[in-house]
Amino acid sequence: MTTTAAVRYETVIGIEVHAQLLTLSKMFCACPVPSLDSPPNSHVCPVCLGMPGVLPVINKHAVELTIMTGLAVNCDIPPEAKFDRKNYHYPDLMKGYQISQYDLPLCKDGRLEIEVDGQTKRVGITRVHLEEDTAKSMHVAAPTGESYSLIDVNRSGLPLMEIVSEPDIRSAEEARAYLQKLRQVLRYIGASRANMDEGNMRCEPNVSIRPLGSEPFGQKVELKNINSFKHAYDAIKYEVARQTQVIESGGRVAQETRGWREDLGQSVSQRSKEYANDYRYFPEPDLPTLTISREWVEEIRTRMPELADAKERRFQDQYGLSAYDAAVLAETRARADFFEASVALGGNDNPARAKSAANWINGEFARLLNADNADIEDSKVTPELLSELLDLLDAGTISGKTAKDVFEQVYRAGISPKRAVQESGLIQITSADEVSFAVEKVIQEHAKPVEDYRRGKEEAIKFLVGQVMRETKGRARPDIVIQVLKEKLNGSP
Ligand code: ADP
Ligand code: ZN
Ligand code: MG
Repeated sequence: MTTTAAVRYETVIGIEVHAQLLTLSKMFCACPVPSLDSPPNSHVCPVCLGMPGVLPVINKHAVELTIMTGLAVNCDIPPEAKFDRKNYHYPDLMKGYQISQYDLPLCKDGRLEIEVDGQTKRVGITRVHLEEDTAKSMHVAAPTGESYSLIDVNRSGLPLMEIVSEPDIRSAEEARAYLQKLRQVLRYIGASRANMDEGNMRCEPNVSIRPLGSEPFGQKVELKNINSFKHAYDAIKYEVARQTQVIESGGRVAQETRGWREDLGQSVSQRSKEYANDYRYFPEPDLPTLTISREWVEEIRTRMPELADAKERRFQDQYGLSAYDAAVLAETRARADFFEASVALGGNDNPARAKSAANWINGEFARLLNADNADIEDSKVTPELLSELLDLLDAGTISGKTAKDVFEQVYRAGISPKRAVQESGLIQITSADEVSFAVEKVIQEHAKPVEDYRRGKEEAIKFLVGQVMRETKGRARPDIVIQVLKEKLNGSP
């Protein structure tokens, strides 16, 4: 394939995302939601095992989380919603059908704004609907050569939300931005853990290409088994190149489902795509049609937290933060909350405190968290501890350099910055008398730069300041060091 071929086509992508909802119990039964380390088949009952003669009961919280998600992505919430049976046979589908939603989903016609290369772009959301997850099968190949499959029914019947985008996405970069933004929204509203590693957020990108400038879409291929943002990105890139080559060599892209094999760096054909009529959808006879009153929708709307985009704008307006700082702080709700709590502790009418809190959270703190691959909400540092450190800095009790050391101790051990400072004798030297001693010593030991300075080479003072800082182990205040040095250097030799 040549690079000139690639530029003659436009990529078209629509993504289906599944997210497990953060409810306490399953979608249609009272089974508690298992945790990641629950033993297999420990959270099951006749309903989620698919026994005959039992009846499903709708989990109200799951419906509310889905509606809240719809509101967060600007969907309409129609006054009526319905559950339907999607029929197919697979060992992990206990009843032989999945309760899903077909023609009357809970939410439709929304949009999500993403940002790529500094440009804002709207991606349409076709629908958000509610369904149930399947059990999980595990295929085991024993060393003896025999193979067998195991099934864990814990996952069967967990509430699952499907979010379907319009084919508005035009590149792997946009797809990644869309998935990241969606994850952020789901986490902000507490609808899902939305963790692709853990499998509670899964995505299926649909990819096609068309000649640039041509209206009709090309044949799409659905990519399955994607379990990270990186895999989604890589799989789309690969698929676009593969389809380009197929078309360039005179072939036609087949309608199929392909899986991503990270180990091979390739997408591989899984099966030809099934159509809606293969599923023989029909209304779920065991469940009533849902009437969604406007009062209910509005009540759910009042429970919705401020979302990242709004926070980002408010942080700039209210605290005078840069667009960059505001965006980084608003990235997760936990980080944004940490920031605001730290600022409030320093007195909300203190704009300098907002700036310094932002600097610490996005700088030193982020660096340490990154190195440990940890999240702010799991850190030993609390807004109280950070605020105490900032108080010490503001009062001039410690220098900026000392503050970094102290912060690291707070980060590692969760100790109080005040105590750390007292115990290590790191209190900043603020009196000129104390600095004098070190300055005298440095002047005596470095005759050459002293002479350079006295001859008019002002630059030379920098070296001398550095030496004094060394001498005082970074505890002297630089402005006082400069002041004392100048006094002594400009005085009699
Ligand atoms: P199907 O009935 O085959 O499942 P849908 O119309 O439900 O197809 O669409 C599934 C997903 O595929 C949606 O996210 C949609 O935006 C996307 N999609 C539809 N047509 C195309 C296309 N030609 N290229 C890329 N994505 C597409
Ligand atoms: Zn159950
Ligand atoms: Mg579909």
